[in-house]
Amino acid sequence: ENFDIDLARQNLSSVFEINSVDKLVKESFAPDSKGLALKAAGALIEYFKETLSSEFAQNSSKNFDVIKTYTVSEFMLLDKATRKNLELTESTTGNKRTSLFATIDKTASKPGRRRLQNWLEQPLFDLAVVNARQEAVTEFIISNDERLSIQALLKRTYDIDRLSGRLASTLISPRELNNLKDSLLAVVEISSLLDQFKSPIISSLKYIPDSILSFCREVESAVKPDPSLAITDGGILNVGYNQELDEYISLVEDSESWLKNYENEQRGKLGIKNLKVSFNKIHGYFLETSRANESKITDDYVVKQTMVNTVRFMSEDLQSFEEKITNAESRRNGLEYKIYNELRRTLAGQSSLIKQIANATADLDAIQALAQLAVDQDFVRPELNDSLDLEIIQGRHPVVEANLSMGAFVPNDLKDTQIMILTGPNMAGKSTYMRQNALIILLAQIGSYVPAESARIGLVDRIFTRIGASDDLSSGQSTFMVEMTEAASILNSMTEKSFVILDEIGRGTSTYDGVAIAWSILEYIAKTFAPRTIFATHYHELANLARIFNSIKNYQVLVAENPNARGKNKIEFLHKVAPGSADKSYGIEVAKLAGLPKEVIQRATAINNQLQAQRKQKLGLNSKNMDSVKSAINQDGDLEIDKLPLFST
Ligand code: ATP
Repeated sequence: ENFDIDLARQNLSSVFEINSVDKLVKESFAPDSKGLALKAAGALIEYFKETLSSEFAQNSSKNFDVIKTYTVSEFMLLDKATRKNLELTESTTGNKRTSLFATIDKTASKPGRRRLQNWLEQPLFDLAVVNARQEAVTEFIISNDERLSIQALLKRTYDIDRLSGRLASTLISPRELNNLKDSLLAVVEISSLLDQFKSPIISSLKYIPDSILSFCREVESAVKPDPSLAITDGGILNVGYNQELDEYISLVEDSESWLKNYENEQRGKLGIKNLKVSFNKIHGYFLETSRANESKITDDYVVKQTMVNTVRFMSEDLQSFEEKITNAESRRNGLEYKIYNELRRTLAGQSSLIKQIANATADLDAIQALAQLAVDQDFVRPELNDSLDLEIIQGRHPVVEANLSMGAFVPNDLKDTQIMILTGPNMAGKSTYMRQNALIILLAQIGSYVPAESARIGLVDRIFTRIGASDDLSSGQSTFMVEMTEAASILNSMTEKSFVILDEIGRGTSTYDGVAIAWSILEYIAKTFAPRTIFATHYHELANLARIFNSIKNYQVLVAENPNARGKNKIEFLHKVAPGSADKSYGIEVAKLAGLPKEVIQRATAINNQLQAQRKQKLGLNSKNMDSVKSAINQDGDLEIDKLPLFST
């Protein structure tokens, strides 16, 4: 807003080479927001000018084609905490290999990879666009053989997107130009395999303009297959491409045989068998023989250098050869440089078309990658609509599943529930279950198939997560403060179309504070927008909320208690989500599994038994004691908190 509008206009007009910059944003913005749009675009260009190299300044007009507007309502919103919690591109510990992206990435090219990552980081909130991607993925699943051929061709491409940028900036090197040509030829081959496809995303590569083939032919006829690295050193262009250049090339190349002849001739003339014509960068060309032959050098030669064993000398013929050849060589290099510069300037005219092709190819790769993923991992096509539905049958967590042995992952449903309270011991799989449902929604909204037996999902506008304890000490916030700040942002921004996962809200403070906060947050969620929510908790008291709100249901992750030979219980994690509420935490059992000293475990068990007994007596609020809750509900159906034994004294 504060950016200088005149500077913005100036930046835009120099980059887009037009005088009336208003036209750039005319269609998309209301008159009152046009100024802001211009300022934003102008400020962005200023940023590029300051941060990018002089390359940008020189060629700024070639780097941009159009200004496209981006409407937030087309996309699902994901805040920073949620991106991090869902481990989209790296795990919470910063490991990229165990991220969702690493698990789903089956792309065959770099631009495809960037495109897929971009899709993952920006899921859609637009049914038509999601459906278009799903359609395309489906076509590629059906036509698997064609897809595999396309995938193989994509693997042959270089980074077309980046190369088209280099082309546009007229800084492209001969090798890059060859790579671009080879990539475009692969794309032309891909396009010949697309006849049968109907999806618009795939079809956009069906027709490759002839000018692209001419481009490839031109590069092929001009640039050597293995050109030298520096464009000022010559050795870039093919013989036969330019007549004048050919003359210099033959002069330079003929010089080798001239030198061989001359050497032989001189050996005969002077009668020196070991006479050699040599070259070095400092002295240029010279004749050389051993000191023993020094006397045979006649007066028409000039001795240049006498060393311990050898003597170097020069003839007039060799002198004039040297002048001619150095001349020819530097002319050849200069001419090649000039021709190459002209060539790449002319070819740059194709750069925006090539950019479009690069763009379509990146889409194609991302789509084929999603098809490959669905085939490899046995994903299904989710049904998406505009409702508030959420039914995921036999859903799986794509990353956890990939890291377990085959068949070890236990799939779980999410159905018939608007707000779920999920209880169950530590390690039971609550976090996995919550995240897996969020990831399935997210994958569905990038147009992907999903890890489930079936899924029906009403489009989600935002996924909110509040998971785990993370200190943000750098910003001076304690664990609990971070937890509450995140919870506040969720409660203030959710809508009925959101999906919310809250893990152990209220754990960072004393038990009573914690239960009170968790209780009132859940109540608020149910009373306001009641978005689709999973609320994992160890506070079994919260189970009572299901008796007050129809929208709330209790679920638990099951564990089995298996008595061992000595009659002691050993817990087994079943990872199965089922209706009902857990009334035991097994915290001490898990602590035992983790290897806490026996003495600590025994003492904790004793303290726990005592506390549990007291608490049951005092609270009257465990899930088995219904009456106290019922009596606290008034005529309007609201819970009168102070009537609950938990909160009254
Ligand atoms: P805590 O309360 O301690 O955070 P949790 O209940 O959230 O525990 P998770 O972190 O979700 O537990 O799961 C613990 C481990 O259990 C996972 O790392 C995974 O190996 C395994 N697990 C979770 N869910 C499943 C499943 N559905 N099938 C198989 N294994 C699972």
